[in-house]
Amino acid sequence: AKSETDRPICLFDEEMGRINRNKMQLVHDLRRALENDEFELVYQLQNRLETLAPEGFEVLLRWNHPTRGRVSPEEFIPVAEETGLVRDIGAWVLREACREAAQWDYPYSVAVNVAPQQLVQPSFLENVMDNLFETGLLPQRLELEITEASIIHDQAHTLKVMHKLKALGIRIAMDDFGTGYSSLSMLQTFPFDKIKIDRSFIQDVHKNPQRAAIVRSTLLLGDALDIPVLAEGVESEDELIFLREENCTSSQGYYFGLPMAREDMRRITCKPIDD
Ligand code: C2E
Ligand code: CA
Ligand code: CA
Ligand code: CA
Repeated sequence: AKSETDRPICLFDEEMGRINRNKMQLVHDLRRALENDEFELVYQLQNRLETLAPEGFEVLLRWNHPTRGRVSPEEFIPVAEETGLVRDIGAWVLREACREAAQWDYPYSVAVNVAPQQLVQPSFLENVMDNLFETGLLPQRLELEITEASIIHDQAHTLKVMHKLKALGIRIAMDDFGTGYSSLSMLQTFPFDKIKIDRSFIQDVHKNPQRAAIVRSTLLLGDALDIPVLAEGVESEDELIFLREENCTSSQGYYFGLPMAREDMRRITCKPIDD
């Protein structure tokens, strides 16, 4: 007969089994998502704080799963990284983003997230150059967003790749600044063109003295190093006012707009067609 103490173990196993099955299903579905054309890109506005004029758009990946509906990148990007699928998915994102941006009438920049495994691929640089050549997008309009995690694996190699990208005219932004282990030393060693302050520091920055101090210091740092700073995740007018007063360069967040589908975004990026 079963004793009381057997039950938690039994429940635990079932729970683990369920989690593993869900994960395996996700991996299975993710493998097919590219060929089934289930991915879509959305675009979020980035603007200058001084004038509030648009300066570019960050490209964000969306997965329209056939039965589950939209699956968040917070859920599937980590799985794509674990399985290596992020390389093919990332290559698709980069190609589509360049293709789209090349069709805009206004020369806004397009910012693309690059996963650690993409950056260390020997073919990465060539892929980027092929994309620019094939789509006609000027390298000056492409910005790559990388995180600390992309750098720590092979710093020497990453540094070389970054210099080559920059020599082409491509800009590189440090994403999620402040959340890693060594954001400061990363800034010292790597030639970043932009610092993106993570949104965890921006939320309620106007009424949280700790966050305010961190954001102010980052802005001073950016100023001293001559690197523009973008604040991520601006959701309120109070946050916006704080950032403007502290001379933050640019911003992005729900206050200015949710990520937009291509059709909506074209109203901003393309001239109206007269007939
Ligand atoms: P991230 O690169 O830090 O992207 C910013 C995330 O913050 C996006 O979430 C965006 O929708 C969200 N966001 C923007 N403004 C606000 C705001 O005002 N408030 C709040 N609460 N959130 C805001 P999303 O699209 O769910 O993406 C999550 C993460 O998934 C991204 O974080 C990025 O790390 C990853 N990701 C998304 N697309 C790609 C991609 O194409 N490639 C790779 N490698 N990773 C991607
Ligand atoms: Ca990003
Ligand atoms: Ca970010
Ligand atoms: Ca983030």
